[in-house]
Amino acid sequence: MRSARSLEGCRYRSSFHCKSVSAIEDLIGELTKLPGIGPKTATRLTYYLLKQSNERADRLAKAVSAVAEQIKPCDMCGNFTETSPCAICADPRRDSGVVCVVEEASDIGAIERTGEYDGLYHVLGGHLSPLDGVGPDDLRLDSLLTRLGNGVDVREVIIATNPSMEGEATATYVGRLLADKGVRVTRIALGLPVGGDLEYADGVTIAQAILARREVPN
Ligand code: ZN
Repeated sequence: MRSARSLEGCRYRSSFHCKSVSAIEDLIGELTKLPGIGPKTATRLTYYLLKQSNERADRLAKAVSAVAEQIKPCDMCGNFTETSPCAICADPRRDSGVVCVVEEASDIGAIERTGEYDGLYHVLGGHLSPLDGVGPDDLRLDSLLTRLGNGVDVREVIIATNPSMEGEATATYVGRLLADKGVRVTRIALGLPVGGDLEYADGVTIAQAILARREVPN
């Protein structure tokens, strides 16, 4: 949003200057809409870009449009991809009998980096949040049910929503939704982070760690 002061300033400047100020404010405004970027950071990034070469700014602009134009959600799992189905859904070496449900496509990368999971994914596109007006119809739940009902032999659905209040509520909802679908439904174990300190962990985390306890191998 243009401030009253800059609008007033514009009246006394040439149209060229008005255009430049507007371009700067447009970029600051667009950057501010990004998650985790406030007006201060947006302003700093904008002025940083102004000091860079035109080629560098062009490369950034092209990278942003390429993402917008070429990347689409995978028809099957909702992962972002250039081709549908995505590389994970299309990989015959992966176990199509296990589907891991995540909130966002960006969560897939975190699980893939572990190298411990070889099943498929299903991206919900968020979590249930009544306060923000996000209900079951806003999540990719229909396509999850379609996937389970279209003859593909899914043995297990792992719910890997975030360990937040909304993530837990979503996990419970998905669990109930799949209760009579003849598929094993599991939730990722939540608890203490590796390298964490019991003394400083909150009660909910410790309680979940106790609930998710397992046998010590002997
Ligand atoms: Zn996919």
